[in-house]
Amino acid sequence: MNEERLWSRINELGQVGVDVNGGLTRLSFSDEEREAKQLVKKYMTDAGLMIREDEIGNIFGRLAGTDPNGKTILIGSHVDTVLSGGIFDGTGGVLIGIEVVQSLIEQGVTPENSVEVVAFTDEEGTRFSTGMIGSKGYTGQLTSDELVNHVDEHGISIAQAMINQGYDPNKLASVKVDPETIKCFLEVHIEQGKILESKNVPIGLVTGIVGLRWLKVKLSGEAGHAGTTPMSLRKDPLAAAAEIIQYIEKLAKEQERTVATVGQLAVNPGGVNIIPSDVEFTIDLRDLSDELLDQLLNQVNGTIESICSKRGITSSVEEIHNLSGVSCSSEINESIRASIEKQGIEVVELPSGAGHDAMVMANFTQTGMIFLRTKNGISHTPEEWADKKDITVAAQTMGTVLLHLFAD
Ligand SMILES: [Zn+2]
Repeated sequence: MNEERLWSRINELGQVGVDVNGGLTRLSFSDEEREAKQLVKKYMTDAGLMIREDEIGNIFGRLAGTDPNGKTILIGSHVDTVLSGGIFDGTGGVLIGIEVVQSLIEQGVTPENSVEVVAFTDEEGTRFSTGMIGSKGYTGQLTSDELVNHVDEHGISIAQAMINQGYDPNKLASVKVDPETIKCFLEVHIEQGKILESKNVPIGLVTGIVGLRWLKVKLSGEAGHAGTTPMSLRKDPLAAAAEIIQYIEKLAKEQERTVATVGQLAVNPGGVNIIPSDVEFTIDLRDLSDELLDQLLNQVNGTIESICSKRGITSSVEEIHNLSGVSCSSEINESIRASIEKQGIEVVELPSGAGHDAMVMANFTQTGMIFLRTKNGISHTPEEWADKKDITVAAQTMGTVLLHLFAD
């Protein structure tokens, strides 16, 4: 790998779309995103790759394999950003993909399989409150209705934004690719968490992307005067909620990987001297295993009922969001594992707690993913940082994985 070339590209692309906060703002179908894609195309051309752009703005740089009937190996990520994001999220994965393939070409490797580096459109979903539309279009998981129904804060639909940037939303069907022509998808992404840093390793092996369940819980009790109502006569829904929240934290801690969060809590009427009448809170529960999530949900529901009946509180629980987890390919994971071990690095396995293009791709083709250590675990801010040496390790690992895939 050419460490300096990769690093200088990350920094050069990190200058495109710099906003007043010093972060990067490259929302989907914006001029800033277009400029970033232009630069990516330039790097791909310099690497000796054939450029293709589809009608939703996904960019591909192709190294044609010697076997015209061979399946294509896809490697990449995205170059759009959130509002005032960092220079590594997504971009790192695209530029590592280019560097890996360019290095192979420079070493005279001519694979049987074709390899395509991809920069997917709108992974973040910031502008249209959606996300991963490039990879969804590519895998046939995006409908024309979605292009019309999702609008930005100015009322511009995805379809209109596409037209404004010279794409044709009526040609959405042309974006979809036949899964039979694809061998696998590989993605490097910053971890955006603290696990790898705490384990003191540069990269980690992603086992899958977690599923999630969101619940909205409403508890109703009896409002009362905080001074005149004795403790024994109270029906306090907030005290019940406190007990439930403690239980949820304990339940998640008892599992190996589950995370559970209560991120919203509303108290009514909300007076300093009033026993609340109603509270409403959310629960966000995540794990790789859908089976475990369903089992934990049952336990949570049972506990809410028993705590509330003991306290004379009525409760209702509504599921407001449900996403299934996906597993990465065990075959590719073995290859990644071997590549990490070969470099004398401890293999740390971890699930991804956030959604990525790999989540969409895993339903379509064999998918493998590597996480990159992220300084202090922070992302989606201008302070987001990944180490130059770690990025090289990630590129080297993917290079070895590619060579392994060529050979089998
Ligand atoms: Zn990302």
